[in-house]
Amino acid sequence: MPLIKVCALSKAYKGGDGSVEALKNVNLEINEGEFLALMGPSGSGKSTLLSILGGLNPPTSGKLFIDDIDVYALEPERLADFRHEYVGFVFQQYQLIPYLTALENVMLPLAITSRPGREQQEMAQTVLHKVGLGNKTQRLPNQLSGGEQNRVAIARAIVNRPSIIFADEPTGSLDSKTAKDLLSLFQTLNQDGLTIIMVTHNQENLDWVTRAVYIRDGILASIPQES
Ligand code: ADP
Ligand code: MG
Repeated sequence: MPLIKVCALSKAYKGGDGSVEALKNVNLEINEGEFLALMGPSGSGKSTLLSILGGLNPPTSGKLFIDDIDVYALEPERLADFRHEYVGFVFQQYQLIPYLTALENVMLPLAITSRPGREQQEMAQTVLHKVGLGNKTQRLPNQLSGGEQNRVAIARAIVNRPSIIFADEPTGSLDSKTAKDLLSLFQTLNQDGLTIIMVTHNQENLDWVTRAVYIRDGILASIPQES
């Protein structure tokens, strides 16, 4: 059974000057443990597909199943619980809160849980250690390099122990060394069992992933694996 199953998914955005068909009849299955790249030119529908897969953006038609759950059939409150339990997001802009320390930023997703504060703090420490920032937990974002801020964002995305990480062009604004470090961290997390879906338009990033799919004008195609 695939972890993620997308059936006949379409998305239209309605605007003043008509409607944009961002996704057209997308079908896709993603297994647990994949590190999938979602490629395609600008405006092709990558971010739209990612946000739909992450439970953030209801499709116009079609279905999304994650772990056999019909995600968009859930009541809004259950959908929020579902997202909290299953998914973590990493965006291109790190979106760290500037006046909170690295540790406090990573603790944010835990704030709505019933876990005691001490346990929340330990969980945040553990993931910061995992991403190599165990000795910088008390720094504010502006006291960290771009690559370090990025790792804080990843720590925050994984602190809840989600099954799936969605990353939208996470290397887009990074220099090549920092980008490589990030992909290497993703690879390690993936080898630990995390399923990762990453939007990218950089061909070089394909060296790190287990599979790639390609979108053009809202239509999805597979990229044959080189071997
Ligand atoms: P990509 O991430 O591949 O650049 P997007 O998914 O952001 O592509 O966009 C796909 C298409 O949908 C584009 O034509 C874009 O202009 C349009 N689009 C995306 N988001 C919205 C929105 N919130 N409202 C209207 N149109 C949108
Ligand atoms: Mg995009």
